[in-house]
Amino acid sequence: VIMTSPTTFQPVLERIAEEIERTPGRGRPADYIPALAARDPRSFGMAVAEPDGTVYGVGDWRQPFSAQSITKVFTLALDLAREGDALWEHVGREPSGNPFNSLVQLEYENGIPRNPFINAGALVVTDRLHTRTGDASGELLAFLRAESGNQDLTFDEEVAASETAHGDRNAALGHFMAAYGNIDNPVPVLLDQYFRQCSVTASCADLALATTVLARHGIRADGTRLLTRSQAKQINAIMLTCGTYDAAGDFAYRVGLPGKSGVGGGIIAVVPGRCTLCVWSPGLDERGNSVAGVAALDRFTTLTGLSVF
Ligand code: GLU
Repeated sequence: VIMTSPTTFQPVLERIAEEIERTPGRGRPADYIPALAARDPRSFGMAVAEPDGTVYGVGDWRQPFSAQSITKVFTLALDLAREGDALWEHVGREPSGNPFNSLVQLEYENGIPRNPFINAGALVVTDRLHTRTGDASGELLAFLRAESGNQDLTFDEEVAASETAHGDRNAALGHFMAAYGNIDNPVPVLLDQYFRQCSVTASCADLALATTVLARHGIRADGTRLLTRSQAKQINAIMLTCGTYDAAGDFAYRVGLPGKSGVGGGIIAVVPGRCTLCVWSPGLDERGNSVAGVAALDRFTTLTGLSVF
């Protein structure tokens, strides 16, 4: 049964949750920091938010989890809104085809990272946002609280400390780009901001709501404009081509939506003009995307016929 243009998303979410429950094989939680390795791979939650703020959810959709790289979408939006196209002199917009924490392309490309969603590119965006606001992670948190309506959203200090203790690779990326003059702030200051940013803890409901700015073509929950229509389109395009590590081609093929994943097991996705989604299950595949999360989004676009294609 194709549930085309559903008037409520609840039945389709329940059907997907039942299917996921019956599916064996969930992948493995991220283990690059001890604070994430302890998550239960059987956890599964999914939420859909409509542009008017209506939210549907199933499973662990109100359970907070580590947002990690999902936050890169919001820092990009906040910085692009402030500095516009000047940002693109410092970070590119092409898929990298390399893992998220790769150093190899940076030397060939003079310290200009391929895109804002690999770690190097996200560090550049956070650095620029920090220069403009004096508090990049605080700006991010205020934005997420306002858009989700959840004033309790906060950083997970244990995760941030764990990132710092295992942060050599991100430190190397920061210093390497600083050597090319592509980082403004002292690298330790930038890393502190970036690790706090990654440690934001939020639920599927919170993150689906925070993403609705992209389904409303740049308009925030309070009706004010954050991004031009074109900038909202650009961010959606970068999510489609670069949002799911080096598996963006497969994600576009299976799901057909702009999406951004994080190593905490969350994935956000956008159906422009219609709704946003956030799914969470901590077990990851080899490329770092949530196994049940991708499967659930695949089922969602198949069952509803909603996709950008
Ligand atoms: N804090 C992680 C890192 O920078 C984020 C990784 C991710 O979610 O892709 O290594």
